[in-house]
Amino acid sequence: MSKTTVDNVLEKENGSQNILEIQNLKTYYPIKGGFFKRTVGNVKAVDDVSFAIKKGETLGLVGESGCGKSTTGRTILRLLSPTSGKIIFDGKDITNLTGKTLRLARRDFQMVFQDPYASLNPKQMVGDIVSEPIRNFSNKSLKELKEEIMSLLKKVGLPEDAYYKYPHEFSGGQRQRIGIARALALKPKLIIADEPVSALDVSVQSQVLNLLKELQDEFDLTFLFIAHDLSVVKHMSDRIGVMYLGNLVEIADKDSLYAEPLHPYTQALISAIPEPDPRKRKERIVLQGDVPSPANPPTGCPFHTRCPVAKEECSKVKPTLKEVKPGHQVACILYN
Ligand code: SF4
Repeated sequence: MSKTTVDNVLEKENGSQNILEIQNLKTYYPIKGGFFKRTVGNVKAVDDVSFAIKKGETLGLVGESGCGKSTTGRTILRLLSPTSGKIIFDGKDITNLTGKTLRLARRDFQMVFQDPYASLNPKQMVGDIVSEPIRNFSNKSLKELKEEIMSLLKKVGLPEDAYYKYPHEFSGGQRQRIGIARALALKPKLIIADEPVSALDVSVQSQVLNLLKELQDEFDLTFLFIAHDLSVVKHMSDRIGVMYLGNLVEIADKDSLYAEPLHPYTQALISAIPEPDPRKRKERIVLQGDVPSPANPPTGCPFHTRCPVAKEECSKVKPTLKEVKPGHQVACILYN
């Protein structure tokens, strides 16, 4: 069979060491209405998002609640079906995989959830929870399996007797360590961490973040790190993408983004980060109004209803991401 254009594109992507490439991803939730429950509209949770993640790097995704960052993560994992676009993982198009092929592909990408307690079966012992993904995919003996899980529990900082305990016997931070061990059990290439520390006490957040960093080195992991807290994302990420109302509005390496945010929305987010040093404090930009409904997004730039520097044409033309400096892309007419 001759190679298609997409095959050639994938070969190129592999050459560039991208482990994940998202192309024009849209995830819409249909709104049903009327007597016949017809689709009368769509909630545009993710609206034409494209980005790539290189092997071994951490890409942070930030934005307010409801901006589409978690839906993006869940669509990549194929917990949700994309409305359109492409998801290319490790050179393979996984956009439309289903059934067994999807289950097999999922060995290589796993998720760490926000609420560790809700994501762990309270009736299962930790050993069973963590070994479940391996049991589904291998014929290892019980002894081999147990040794492997004990070693994994140790690596995530849990005592070996955790194997025989139940989730309710652990603190929030320890439960997140169990969730991390389960995500690592199949030695995945990519981990999507969705607000992994936001449900934890501040005192244990940094321990879990540091653990994720250590494990990234040890297991050669790539992370998509989703969070609303910009300080946390800065600590974890190599590059950061900023989302607003289902759109990626800016993406850059973290130093460039924090030192010189270009998009007015990113500028407002960064101005809200508490700065302990009074000499470095900048004036806080307070955005007016609420985030519009993704079921009825504004025309033109999705941010124009709240943008402090909006111009007349902002409500008419939707800006696309444009590279304004090497590796720094922004979607705003001020830079077109
Ligand atoms: Fe503001 Fe216009 Fe830029 Fe949108 S395109 S961020 S409304 S200046």
